[in-house]
Amino acid sequence: MRFLTLGSSAEIGASCHYLSVNGCGLILDAGADPNSEGIPSLPRYDLLRGAGSTAPRHVFITHAHQDHVGGLPTLVDEYPGIRVCLTEATRQLAEFMLHASARLQRRRFKEGESAHPPLFDEELLDIVSSRHSTHEYGESFPLLHEGQRLSAQFFDAGHVLGSAGVLIRFEEDDRERSLYYTSDTNTQPQAIIPGGAYPEPPIDILVMESTLGADPQAEHSTRADHEDAFCEALKAVIARGGCVLVPVFMLGRAQEVLSVIQRFKNNGLIPKDLPVYTAGGMREVSNIYDQTRLYTPRIDQAFKVSRVRQRRFPFRHDKILSAMQSPAIFVLASGMMFEKTLSNRVAQLMVEEEKHAVFVVGYCKKDSPGRRIQEALDQGLDGVVLNKEAGMQPLRCQVERFRFSGHSNRQDLVALAKRLHPKKTVLVHGETAARAWMADAVAAACPDTEVILPEAGQVVEL
Ligand SMILES: [Zn+2]
Ligand SMILES: [Zn+2]
Repeated sequence: MRFLTLGSSAEIGASCHYLSVNGCGLILDAGADPNSEGIPSLPRYDLLRGAGSTAPRHVFITHAHQDHVGGLPTLVDEYPGIRVCLTEATRQLAEFMLHASARLQRRRFKEGESAHPPLFDEELLDIVSSRHSTHEYGESFPLLHEGQRLSAQFFDAGHVLGSAGVLIRFEEDDRERSLYYTSDTNTQPQAIIPGGAYPEPPIDILVMESTLGADPQAEHSTRADHEDAFCEALKAVIARGGCVLVPVFMLGRAQEVLSVIQRFKNNGLIPKDLPVYTAGGMREVSNIYDQTRLYTPRIDQAFKVSRVRQRRFPFRHDKILSAMQSPAIFVLASGMMFEKTLSNRVAQLMVEEEKHAVFVVGYCKKDSPGRRIQEALDQGLDGVVLNKEAGMQPLRCQVERFRFSGHSNRQDLVALAKRLHPKKTVLVHGETAARAWMADAVAAACPDTEVILPEAGQVVEL
């Protein structure tokens, strides 16, 4: 089997890996870098045209985050015969996310905010939809290719609604072999989504994420610890008349945070009438969470995100300022506070006032404004650049970090590798330091496994 990373390897950007199994081309995820635009944000599909690569026949979309699905329309445009395998919930979420992305790209280009023409339009998205093939967790489905024995199976990845790891079984040199791709995964339960499920060991090749490999703190505290600390911090900000911004991914973190806030309200820990502001797209995603709640894995099947009382985020500047006059929580995207998003806009308004607070609850990649504000705090700096046009702003508000991540901590990932007992472990989806720590730890815990750190564009024989 040949393996080729088409997206980013040394950081978390566009997730996309190509596999060639006995002349059948498969693709694991087709993401786009959320911090970039146009062609440069896409995986290097051009590398597939190189000598010896067969056209991909199937692409597995593991979940609907931009870094896993944003490059799908372009892939389908290049290979119209490709079949898009995904779970039903991911299908619904991806439809919504990609249409929203098409509208946003068109508007930004038209208004001169972006120099990159839109990568896709609704017409292409209709073609993408026509290629969908949905599968349940646990269902083994054949990948038809010239009579060969090749099959795939999804496992609940425990990351966000619909998320899946992919098990591929194939025959090579008269031997049964298997590859398991964890994608983004969480072995432990969150507030809404239970912990992931994994295939029976042993498997031959493990392709594993490494997101939190450089975060030693994550394994030293439990989710309950973080929820308690989050609640105490929230109460302190409310008591001094301030507001809290919680920057979140529209899919996953948003719904998890809203469910935690509702629990605090139900338990009388914070005032029941404390306003919680959310905005458009996030509410649509919450509706999909609610509509699928009876047939997707849940901690509490009865819980509905729409029951959490929310106010619509006011878009007019004066209305935002007046909403910030009294205590409130703003749960807004993007999670990394990228420029020109609502969370970045609100952060700029809050950062100079001591009474306000920014509570970071998820992973922020290097150089993102979400990471910069945490680094400014760690280094004791008195200013931060959240937006290049606004320039350096005094950092006076409170900044706190709580781990409500949808990713496993690094010890859980190492334990997973140990349990699956692979002959080869390929580490992806992590910054350089994170993958380096994981490589050492997996090699120490699993002496029989060969650890591989693939570079983007490098063909690896597995
Ligand atoms: Zn993800
Ligand atoms: Zn990801």
